[in-house]
Amino acid sequence: MSIEWPADWANLTRGIGCVMCDSRRADADDYGVRIFSSENIDAALQRADIQRGYTVVLWRGRHITEPFELTAAESAEYWGAVMRVAEALMEYYRPLKMNYETLGNSVPHLHTHLLPRYVVDPAPGRPFPLLPQNGSEPKIPDADLHEQAEALRRALGGR
Ligand SMILES: [Zn+2]
Repeated sequence: MSIEWPADWANLTRGIGCVMCDSRRADADDYGVRIFSSENIDAALQRADIQRGYTVVLWRGRHITEPFELTAAESAEYWGAVMRVAEALMEYYRPLKMNYETLGNSVPHLHTHLLPRYVVDPAPGRPFPLLPQNGSEPKIPDADLHEQAEALRRALGGR
């Protein structure tokens, strides 16, 4: 199987046909359950059973591809939220290490994958083998996911 950049890359980087711009902000969707939100940011604990505590922080302002396109104030808001959520994940899941992956290779809209890394881990000492989700991944049972999300929302000072 050949691996290629997404078709229509030039338009996607301008926000045309961007699935993240087009998605609505919700407490829960097919991908995850929201644990944090502010004016321009959502963070969602992921349903896919890839790694315990796997969370995506998503920029919800205008379309941004590269983080340097943010103004200084927006950048402070974005990275401040990324750090705040990462610290809450560290305290709740107690991993060895947090990983921060701001990639945008499959969806070029600013978002950051937060991946706790554990003693028992798919790739100790190396980058996490993160693949684009296609919806077929095994899911964390709803009750378990919501219990974790509730604890994280409380830790983050949300509802
Ligand atoms: Zn976008």
